[in-house]
Amino acid sequence: MPVFRVKGVGGRKRPLFKMQRGPAARAWPATLGLLALATAQVAVYESLARLHDLRNQVPEAVAPDSLGKSSYQRMKASIFGTEISLLCAKCGAEQGVSTVGDLPEEPKCIVCSSGLLVPCYWGTAKLSDLMKKREEKTQLTDEERAELSRARRSADLVLSYGKKAVVAQTVYGIGPQTASRILAELRDDEEAFYRDLLEAKIRFVTTRQFWGS
Ligand SMILES: [Zn+2]
Repeated sequence: MPVFRVKGVGGRKRPLFKMQRGPAARAWPATLGLLALATAQVAVYESLARLHDLRNQVPEAVAPDSLGKSSYQRMKASIFGTEISLLCAKCGAEQGVSTVGDLPEEPKCIVCSSGLLVPCYWGTAKLSDLMKKREEKTQLTDEERAELSRARRSADLVLSYGKKAVVAQTVYGIGPQTASRILAELRDDEEAFYRDLLEAKIRFVTTRQFWGS
């Protein structure tokens, strides 16, 4: 048991502070130690979980550069290999399934030649049904109206920016609003474009837990 002493009158050492003996005195440092250890473990687990989450969802951001490909090239390859269906927001025609990479720079509807095309990543059936409901003046829910509105904004971007708008919206976590901001700042620098997309994706993945989506 450590005892701290100072010199008293006559040079005799006397205790300045002496720890109490007994089970309670022994329990306290042990409890505090365990608490510190538990807190540190939680912090480590949280960090590992976030890293694991980031690795799963943004592999291009954390993969080693051993293959000589930069993050943006990996990201571009991943986006270009993604399957996509376009749906014409003007006439409702489905454009068939292709990969993002195979799309022309200025995609046009195969029926009416409009550039107002909605990129659909989970098939066109749901949106197509919604568009038919709207045409038939069927009562729509707020959620359905919001979905149609989002699809329209998405198609507006494809009309304005062509394939790049599809590329941007293929990235996980990038909706029409974020895509619109990134596309508005678009320059000729392709790498900067993909870097912006990657940053937006990482921001989405790392912050979504705070806004519950
Ligand atoms: Zn069309």
